[in-house]
Amino acid sequence: MSEPKKLFIKTYGCQMNVYDSERMAEALGGQGYVETKSADDADMILLNTCHIREKAAEKVYSELGRFKGLKADKPDLKIGVAGCVAQAEGEEIMRRQPLVDLVVGPQSYHRLPEMEAKTRAGEKALDTDFPEEDKFEKLKNRPKAKRGPTAFLTVQEGCDKFCAFCVVPYTRGAEVSRPADRIIREAQDLVERGVREITLLGQNVNAYHGAGPNGDMTLAGLIWELNKVDGLERIRFTTSHPNDMDDALIEAHGTCEKLMPYLHLPVQSGSDKILKRMNRSHTAESYLRLIERIREARPDILMSGDFIVGFPEETDEDFQATLDLVEEVKYGYAYSFKYSTRPGTPAAERPQVDAEVADERLQRLQALITRHQRVIQDSMVGKTVSVLFEKSGRQPGQMVGKSEYLHAVHVSDADLARGDLRKVRIKSSGANSLGGDVI
Ligand code: SAM
Ligand code: SF4
Repeated sequence: MSEPKKLFIKTYGCQMNVYDSERMAEALGGQGYVETKSADDADMILLNTCHIREKAAEKVYSELGRFKGLKADKPDLKIGVAGCVAQAEGEEIMRRQPLVDLVVGPQSYHRLPEMEAKTRAGEKALDTDFPEEDKFEKLKNRPKAKRGPTAFLTVQEGCDKFCAFCVVPYTRGAEVSRPADRIIREAQDLVERGVREITLLGQNVNAYHGAGPNGDMTLAGLIWELNKVDGLERIRFTTSHPNDMDDALIEAHGTCEKLMPYLHLPVQSGSDKILKRMNRSHTAESYLRLIERIREARPDILMSGDFIVGFPEETDEDFQATLDLVEEVKYGYAYSFKYSTRPGTPAAERPQVDAEVADERLQRLQALITRHQRVIQDSMVGKTVSVLFEKSGRQPGQMVGKSEYLHAVHVSDADLARGDLRKVRIKSSGANSLGGDVI
């Protein structure tokens, strides 16, 4: 029997890319590939890329440059670029870096096996179409191998919102939802393979409106269906847009037992002037009222968000409004970024904020967020949380898992196994995690 070919995938960016990489590995498994953790012994290298900020896109070219030596030693090595840089730059990637054999956009992954065959025949393969067919249906089914207790599951892709800073509507295309029955089948399959927690993914996951048995189903409807799946213990979803938080979804946070008390709800800025220029179509006030309603439904919910500082024409007053909003919400986690100009987006043409000013604002915002994060994490000490254990810790006999609020929790208990879901009393709060005992 011939040796299986080896596939090395490096994933950049969002959780959706993590999910896509798993599916690409499965699709190429059908071509005789097994995954390897090292680029050095690979027969095919795939970079699954991110285009959201300039730095992320540039990393791809420096990484590709590093593969020159590998390709010189092994001329049969195939190098591919997938993901949003592939979609945005297409053929330009092969022009800029001729060692690239294959470029595939996020909507064409089901065509990877044919593309791989083409590269084996010595040709270059490029596909950045937005085909009509559902790529997830065409991708080989997930094989039945056992897997860890948590998994991502993409339910919705693309975006029609066109925020003025964002490339997603151009790289991932129009908003499309997968039919509910396919998602439920995939969730059941994951559970049979050992998964106990599923995170539903979408660029605007709460805009989900996939076909269901009685017309379109909302995200809340889908969550309630998944709540019935035996063996599935926890449901999460990300990322949500404030304008798509409907009443049923807010209510589900208070009533659906498997839906975890954690919500990632990006606001981007606390200034109405900036929000308007970002084309966000919500105000700081409407966002705050929304959080009030969500907290009424689920008082202990841990809020998370995204912020952009230094958006074109952001003044000190605008930035102060962002700090004020953060002070009011008190996020348990939040991700903040310096505005990055993305060619082809409306904001790229506007007067830019001085880089040093933006850097200083980013530091101030991150310091405030970290302070709140720390207070919230420390407030867990003395409480009992439920923990789904995912992997061994650094110390012998130690296991690490996530609480319902997504805090990492360490427990030293030799009887614990991966996939166990236990009540844990929190005793300590460290730099980035909690410690406790199983009760
Ligand atoms: N759909 C989600 C939403 O509207 O909140 C966000 C998806 S986007 C992949 C993730 C985050 O990247 C955004 O929330 C935003 O904070 C950040 N981001 C997007 N474009 C950016 C840019 N040009 N510069 C800096 N950060 C950006
Ligand atoms: Fe990008 Fe999110 Fe805005 Fe869509 S809603 S354009 S994904 S930031």
